[in-house]
Amino acid sequence: MKAEIISVGTELLLGETLDTNSNYLAQELPEIGIDLLWATQIGDNFDRLIDIFNNAMRRSDIIFVTGGLGPTEDDITRETLAKALNESLTIDKKQEKQLRNFFSERKREFPEKNVKQATIIKSAKFLSNPIGTAPGWWIKKNSIEIILMPGPPAEMKKMWQEQIKPLLIKESDSVLVKKIIKTSTLGESNINEMVEQFLHYKNPSVGIYVKKDGVSLRIAAKAKNKATAMNLIKPVEKKLKKILKGYVWGEDDEKYGEIILKNMIEKNLTLGLIESVTGGKIADEITNYNNSSKYFLGSLIAYDKNVKIFSGLDSKFLKEEGTVSAATTKKLAKNAKNIFNSDLGLAITGVAGNKAVEKHESGTLFLSITDGERFLNKEMIISGDRIQIKNRAVFLAFALINEFMLKK
Ligand code: AMP
Ligand code: MG
Repeated sequence: MKAEIISVGTELLLGETLDTNSNYLAQELPEIGIDLLWATQIGDNFDRLIDIFNNAMRRSDIIFVTGGLGPTEDDITRETLAKALNESLTIDKKQEKQLRNFFSERKREFPEKNVKQATIIKSAKFLSNPIGTAPGWWIKKNSIEIILMPGPPAEMKKMWQEQIKPLLIKESDSVLVKKIIKTSTLGESNINEMVEQFLHYKNPSVGIYVKKDGVSLRIAAKAKNKATAMNLIKPVEKKLKKILKGYVWGEDDEKYGEIILKNMIEKNLTLGLIESVTGGKIADEITNYNNSSKYFLGSLIAYDKNVKIFSGLDSKFLKEEGTVSAATTKKLAKNAKNIFNSDLGLAITGVAGNKAVEKHESGTLFLSITDGERFLNKEMIISGDRIQIKNRAVFLAFALINEFMLKK
């Protein structure tokens, strides 16, 4: 089934409102076996709307439209669609009554121009909107379905989940199932090289994309039911995990912070940090999860060199080795363990700004973790702006913790 989404609203084209509706629907459609082939953003303009509706009806089996159902003059989705379908709009008495009730229940006066939200065409049926004034429409005509939903995301989602998705599931003869494999440390191009042969697969298909928490691989299979789709996915998943052994940290919607938490608690270990370049961001991410206090003791943000000295570093050593260096970071990891009296101490230094520091270029990171005897140290150069470097550093620190624990 060929589908398209049309997001209506001049505010979308002006960059004032982000088109989250189409993003949401794009995520929902694959799992019910509907192929999304086009997504358009269009302003509240009569001629252009007619044009896009005609286009969509020529090429798609099902068309999802959001926005432009408000009571004001500029919202003209209903009017243009009626025109494109060559049908006339009439006021539905029952709907008008409901609309008037919606206002009186809230002790608000009914603005007469709102009556346009009770209009409908012959080939459409109303979709009710319990949390707003704009009802949706479900049109079936000439073997095409057109579904109109209100623009406000909360209203759209509720209508979709309660009234539209369940019916589409009944009509659908296939599902798309996804499996996500989450990796760390390797870059997108490394992974691309390692799994290249899989990227040409059709069903299941394999894709690579970069997320905040690392590079993810998506295996997607289409089949008549979930079990059959999983059977297509399983062998490919196994092969990919074998190739990427040592770099995979999680799957589907798992969070790195939760994985670390689970492993640390299971192994009954505590952790203390000294953070320079990340400015406390590792501690921030760690403490986003319930029960983090069971293993995480604290972080010293040793941004200035005097704080590094305060942590136990010798000032002469610091001068010789530099504030950003492998030797300094190693010592800081040990200091973290001492200060917090933890099982593991981790430290990170680096350059997040765009200027080099002590001859180290932007994106340089030094990480070290220790249990007091064994050390695992990493040095790398990553790209990005200040914020991106800090974010990636957090997940590289998690990867280091995981790697260290694997050998424990
Ligand atoms: P409308 O149905 O055009 O009256 O839209 C009402 C409100 O919904 C707008 O002011 C936006 O804030 C929001 N909205 C409309 N379209 C979208 C969209 N595609 N994504 C997110 N928000 C939207
Ligand atoms: Mg609008």
